[in-house]
Amino acid sequence: MSDRPYSRKLIIDSIRDYTAQLIEEGLEGLPAPPVVPARPATSAVPTSTPAAAIAPPAGANELSTLYPGLGETADLTALRSFIGQCQRCKLHSGRTHLVFGIGDPRARLMFVGEAPGADEDAQGEPFVGRAGQLLTDIIERGMHLKRSEVYICNVIKCRPPGNRNPESDEVAACQPFLWRQIALVKPEVIVGLGTFAVHALLATKTPIGKLRGHWQRVQGVPMMPTFHPAYLLRNPADKRLVWADIQEVMRALGLDSAGRPSA
Ligand code: SF4
Repeated sequence: MSDRPYSRKLIIDSIRDYTAQLIEEGLEGLPAPPVVPARPATSAVPTSTPAAAIAPPAGANELSTLYPGLGETADLTALRSFIGQCQRCKLHSGRTHLVFGIGDPRARLMFVGEAPGADEDAQGEPFVGRAGQLLTDIIERGMHLKRSEVYICNVIKCRPPGNRNPESDEVAACQPFLWRQIALVKPEVIVGLGTFAVHALLATKTPIGKLRGHWQRVQGVPMMPTFHPAYLLRNPADKRLVWADIQEVMRALGLDSAGRPSA
């Protein structure tokens, strides 16, 4: 009907954005409906797992056994060739480009996001949409580094349809490539961007709101969890929290607020 004030697509997009915001803010699930369970309810996922108690993810070598030869790729070019026109999970069927990663192959700093969105899928480069521009601003105007000086990639290399969250089988299929990227780049510091990436990196469900600002370790590399730039576009007031996290990262890299080596 033409007199409807909102289109179905607009409503669905709004619900999706709002749900993503709630997840980013730490929502772990919806309240159970008031029905009598068939058996006593089991304990829920802890909501306050201390950072130190987070189980580390499986080692790179262990994961590389999924794909014989992956652990022997000598550099990022060889790794990209190894991945090829990957069909190891169902996401291959909807992609335009496989989004591998970009930046300095010897970068001291690596940013890891979730998965390509529409802009990234179209261009074959991570973080190029509005959220990507904000990440570039954080790197270049905030840290006084060049985007080309850092390394940027995602946990998942192909765009999930409709920007839905990646599913567990897709993470299991694709994450070994990220572990190899980390092993080859050997960054001194990783920044985990947003709920999904941080949860995948740490194998935890602890809300990002509790994790951000606290150092973790991924494959032996210090990792600072922080909010995703897309979240900041919806919640600009939280930019100050991300800036605090980025200043911690700069200190860890031995950089002052102007991006120069600190005395
Ligand atoms: S998401 Fe990863 S595992 Fe799946 S097809 Fe793409 S590159 Fe392969």
